Amino acid sequence: MGLFTQSRHIAPRRAAAFRADSTAVTELDRILKANESYTASPMAGPPAKRLCIVTCMDARIDPLAAFGLDLGDTHVIRNAGGRVTDDTIRSVVLSAHALGTREFGVIHHTRCGVQTTNDAIKEALAGLDVGHIDFLAFDDLDQSVRDDVQALVDTKLLPPDAAVWGGVYDVDTGQLRIVVEP
Ligand SMILES: [Zn+2]
Repeated sequence: MGLFTQSRHIAPRRAAAFRADSTAVTELDRILKANESYTASPMAGPPAKRLCIVTCMDARIDPLAAFGLDLGDTHVIRNAGGRVTDDTIRSVVLSAHALGTREFGVIHHTRCGVQTTNDAIKEALAGLDVGHIDFLAFDDLDQSVRDDVQALVDTKLLPPDAAVWGGVYDVDTGQLRIVVEP
């Protein structure tokens, strides 16, 4: 098994350990049914457009459709807020140096759940032991984009010929507004 391949299925014994209760309703049956009629074609691993996008996990964002991209064109690194974390950097470095990407876009979005305060998030999660987690909440949307573009640049781990830009995606209109030019 290569560096960038993963087992498709979680071993049943392991999966059983994650089951909270036997009456839990999951999407899994529907997912497996849908997957029966889905076929992938072999394609190269490195993104065809040498592009790597960092964005939020928000369910309203479809990066391929919104930005005119096809399967195989780009890496999309997603987390809550599209923030540049240590793990984002881990993925970006592999994207750039193992898989040849040269253009890096940081895209945050309007009405993001992380555009609040860490305290507000922790309050919403009351009862959970999350005191040690920095949810990387932000106040100013454009500034958070500038900060995360700068965080990528500051790693000094991007290729010398890399282009880095940042923008804000409007989840209500689908429009991307550039905040940091390449
Ligand atoms: Zn978001």
